[in-house]
Amino acid sequence: MPTADSQKPTASRYYLWTVGCQMNKADSEKLAAGFERLGMKAVDRIERADVVVLNTCSVRQHAEDRAYSKLGRVRDLKKQKPGLKVALMGCMVGLKTDELEKRFPQVDVFARPQQFDGIMELVEGPAEDLGGEFWPTTYAVPEGPATYVPIVHGCNKFCTYCIVPYRRGREKSRTVDEIVREVAYLAVHGVREVTLLGQTVEAYGHDLPEQPDLGDLMRALSEIERLQRIRFLTSYPKDMTHRILEAVADLPKVMECFSLPVQAGSDAVLDSMRRGYTRAEYLEKIREVRALMPGAGITTDIIVGYPGETETDFEETCSILEEVRFDKVHVAAYSPRPGTIAWRKMEDDVPAAVKAERLHRVEAIELRISQEINDRYAGTVQEVLVEGVRGEQPFGRTRTGKLVHIDSPARVGSMVAVRIEHAGPFSLRGVLEDALVLA
Ligand code: SF4
Repeated sequence: MPTADSQKPTASRYYLWTVGCQMNKADSEKLAAGFERLGMKAVDRIERADVVVLNTCSVRQHAEDRAYSKLGRVRDLKKQKPGLKVALMGCMVGLKTDELEKRFPQVDVFARPQQFDGIMELVEGPAEDLGGEFWPTTYAVPEGPATYVPIVHGCNKFCTYCIVPYRRGREKSRTVDEIVREVAYLAVHGVREVTLLGQTVEAYGHDLPEQPDLGDLMRALSEIERLQRIRFLTSYPKDMTHRILEAVADLPKVMECFSLPVQAGSDAVLDSMRRGYTRAEYLEKIREVRALMPGAGITTDIIVGYPGETETDFEETCSILEEVRFDKVHVAAYSPRPGTIAWRKMEDDVPAAVKAERLHRVEAIELRISQEINDRYAGTVQEVLVEGVRGEQPFGRTRTGKLVHIDSPARVGSMVAVRIEHAGPFSLRGVLEDALVLA
């Protein structure tokens, strides 16, 4: 057993830098909670730190480039301060680290996502005191009334363009009890909305002995009194069962808000991506969602310029956007990620100029559709959870996930009724409806 003295880490000021998805952010929040439990303090300038952790993403080249630039800064700093402890964490770190060790000698520890123990050794803190695997007894300190809670780690799908399964490993669910305990703790500390996270969130539970599904988990979480809203992402069409959709529709605390990546509209491209569904199957899933929840907010992800994508394939992507009419589209031009199946086996044969042109066409379609959808909100009264204040202006989200700027004073953490006066393609604006602070 470590003594009280041995629990005090020698590196006491940490700088934690994070890029990438909500999973990465959640990992960083958990690591920060572990550091704080060991008595360490966060600093916002890298120069003031005794320990630096860079939590990286390799899904896009841009995110890797930002990490390289940080690593350059760390190399210079370490020359001035040889005692500086440095960890590189996240999706840039694979099973084998020999190459990384050669390239980045300024890094002391390479840690894959959620593999915090090596970092704990680096700061000489007792990792076992944080609860064991995934640190189930170490909770992130909530920064506001809406926060993220990972419920299933890893992914079993192996889409040809994606590095995630190689870096985050296979799906591994946390137990219902463990998640309920964490969310109850968060609710006591002011959290009113949780977003349940998984790479394919509906895969939740199939690896647990009693095989609860996402609906069972949301039912259990709905019992937590102070918690007012539950949402979940990212959805995977094949895993989204009717049973789960019924739970979303039936449970009043669960928001009608879906993040359902389609990636492409052509069956040839979907097959080449190994997405595991056809265009028709995806559209059927959308119909199922809208039959149960006609006003649901649905966002999606699109990749343009995938290897072999012809103009006809791309037209099918445009037509699926017109057919579904998504609330929001996250679009990216394909770039090969080292280590993926597409990088190994497919030629990146769509010219950069064609990719750029397709990307802009998707953005133009989406801008028009988002504006048309948001226009329908004008004049309505929406329930909004006030998540924060920017400048002097409070902001929050509707139950369908729309960002709302509020032109009236409103307390952070309150649930208010907002009359929408203005609709833009990316957000709404409105004023508090008199005497309608809901909670
Ligand atoms: S479902 Fe596909 S894109 Fe999503 S994390 Fe898994 S492999 Fe990557």
